[in-house]
Amino acid sequence: MFNVQDIRKDFPILSRKVNGKPLAYFDNAATSQTPQQVIDAIVDYYANYNANIHRGVHTLSQEATDLYEQARQKIQAHFNAKFSHEIILTSGATHSINLVANGFSSLLKKGDDIIVSALEHHSNIVPWQMLCERTGANLKVIPMNEDGELVMSVFDNLLSKNTKLVFLNHISNALGTINPIEYVIEKAHQVGSAVLVDGAQACPHIKPDVQALDVDFYVASAHKMCGPTGVGMLYGKEAWLNKLPPYQGGGEMIAEVTFEKTTYADLPHKFEAGTPNIAGGIVFGAAIDYMNNIGFDAIAAYEKELLDYATQKLLAIDGLKIYGTSKNKTSVISFNLENIHPYDVGTILDKLGIAVRTGHHCAQPIMDYYGIPGTIRASLAFYNTKEEIDTLVEGVKKAKMMLS
Ligand code: PMP
Repeated sequence: MFNVQDIRKDFPILSRKVNGKPLAYFDNAATSQTPQQVIDAIVDYYANYNANIHRGVHTLSQEATDLYEQARQKIQAHFNAKFSHEIILTSGATHSINLVANGFSSLLKKGDDIIVSALEHHSNIVPWQMLCERTGANLKVIPMNEDGELVMSVFDNLLSKNTKLVFLNHISNALGTINPIEYVIEKAHQVGSAVLVDGAQACPHIKPDVQALDVDFYVASAHKMCGPTGVGMLYGKEAWLNKLPPYQGGGEMIAEVTFEKTTYADLPHKFEAGTPNIAGGIVFGAAIDYMNNIGFDAIAAYEKELLDYATQKLLAIDGLKIYGTSKNKTSVISFNLENIHPYDVGTILDKLGIAVRTGHHCAQPIMDYYGIPGTIRASLAFYNTKEEIDTLVEGVKKAKMMLS
């Protein structure tokens, strides 16, 4: 049974004060807060198992290796990947995307097309622009509409036999729109293109099934899922991961090294050069356990209730405009007050202990579409409450009064 007050007891940070006021944390799309169970798992690793993995003959190294590989299996099970070696542990979504973009350098040629969406985070734009510069491939964009949805009829027309890769996010970090990835994957596959889905914002809210989606690559960051920073994952279909060359060279990723020639290790190690974030990987597994114990159905139902409540209360404020009004959205509310700069509102809210994000949210093309410098973004999580939303709404009203 979902009980938000019980859940909040797991998060020590939620009971701290900021500027003398109880913290109301609404910057969950930037990073989520960390439950005690996950903090304990970090301490447990350094207190009991700290050792380098995969090469030690001694007990500690074997214990750490087992825990690290068990975490990979947990991640595999969570995303329903067919094999655990299809899960590459990375430093986060950005690293995962760059790994794939780099690998495609040798697979693309001049005249090939890659398609991106207008709703992307910069980390799912810039690596592909760099890839186009290296290969001479063209970057094409699925446009968005006023509601913050992708225009699928244009996508249909962009697809051709030249399309080699389509990449888009599952959920937009700036607007919360849930993109029709099932449709995109099906259509892209019909022309023989691969699809990469950036799940950084989806994974805190829903549990993706990579086999049911039939997606080629899917990426996520642990720190948005109650886990630590500096660790994330790349799911790739085995055939694709075998086709891509390694991203970085170093220890751990080799089978044999001589000065004449090096052969690479099998998956997943081929993509995991150097000592990884061992504690991070193990604790990523603990964070996934924590979220699954609460249950993604319960999380989604509660967050929908919060989103509807907050949307309705905020819209009642005169001069407040919400950007991203799709019916298919999760708990991100991006808004502005008429004639007031978002940064000024964010600064006043901070004085009241309310954490929101202001600016372009690493998605400048979306801001350009709306002709605004940025928005105030309140992003909700399953540990937020209606009382906190009331505090936010009162804070926004106060900011409006002070700044008008
Ligand atoms: N994609 C999206 C949609 C995001 O929201 C973010 C993080 N804000 C990223 C990618 C990058 O994630 P990270 O910084 O953890 O690599």
